Amino acid sequence: MMAMEPLLKVENLKKYFPVRGLFRTIGYVKAVDGVSFEINRGETFGLVGESGCGKTTTGRTILRLIEPTSGRIIFDGKDVTKLSGEEMKAFRRRAQIMFQDPYSSLNPRQTVFEIIMEPVRFHGIPVDDPEEFVIDLLESVGLNEMHLYRYPHEFSGGQRQRIALARLLALKPEFIVLDEPTSALDVSVQANILNMLKDLQKKYGFTYLFISHDLGVVKYMSHRMGVMYLGKLVEVGPAEKIFENPLHPYTQMLLSAIPVPDPELAQELKRKRMKIEGEPPSPINPPKGCRFHPRCPRVMDRCKKEEPPLVEVEKDHYVACWLYAKS
Ligand code: SF4
Repeated sequence: MMAMEPLLKVENLKKYFPVRGLFRTIGYVKAVDGVSFEINRGETFGLVGESGCGKTTTGRTILRLIEPTSGRIIFDGKDVTKLSGEEMKAFRRRAQIMFQDPYSSLNPRQTVFEIIMEPVRFHGIPVDDPEEFVIDLLESVGLNEMHLYRYPHEFSGGQRQRIALARLLALKPEFIVLDEPTSALDVSVQANILNMLKDLQKKYGFTYLFISHDLGVVKYMSHRMGVMYLGKLVEVGPAEKIFENPLHPYTQMLLSAIPVPDPELAQELKRKRMKIEGEPPSPINPPKGCRFHPRCPRVMDRCKKEEPPLVEVEKDHYVACWLYAKS
């Protein structure tokens, strides 16, 4: 049987932002610098790293909310960077984003009904009974018809994220970028929203790119994951495998910094426990060789000169580190 094509393939994606001096461009912030990964249909791929590592820019560039500098973004077999106007409109319906801040993502002057119906009308999706349509959507995210004509300020943060989600569901998307969707919420509310996202994925077969700085949440949500550092992916693999056996020194540092409920894993991580030394260097002038070398406790001479490629170290588990290189 032929393996199913992934829904999304990102190939050598780059996004550089110019740094302007008085009269000319004096450099570039290499926010995303040659990132490649795939997401299978119905899968959640987690993207994790410290703030400023490029994970949010990666998500927005994939949706072309930000234009890529170079690279290919293949969605359902087509290169998103080369779509015509009509094809782009269809892509915008099929691929959605849920933002972190539920307070700024909803128009305060619109009622819930208007908020949900606006994109439906924009995309020309036929709806027989708009009220019934919106009530169904509200019920699928745990709200109800009482909320139909209320305004965003009348809701809590968690309820606003539910409204934002109902608006996405109205377009029947296949792919959703979840950009820190619960980091602005209380812990108890976070769990409800994350469980709802999982249930909706099961029900509708959604494919998610889940972006977060919170490793615990990424582990809970993701089938596979990628760890980003200074615009590069340094480790990619099944989430369980990476949590059980993190191979890249940066991933080991990130993991050793979070509380671990599993006593065996805690023991294992204790052995490897390291401090996260220093701040990430500037993405304008990233270090030569391995970008992590100024902070890496296992740095070798080679690391300062040559950049390690992302290679498969064990089945489906990729690492960019000279400790695992065969040559
Ligand atoms: Fe550390 Fe070298 Fe591996 Fe980079 S390549 S993570 S500096 S051991």
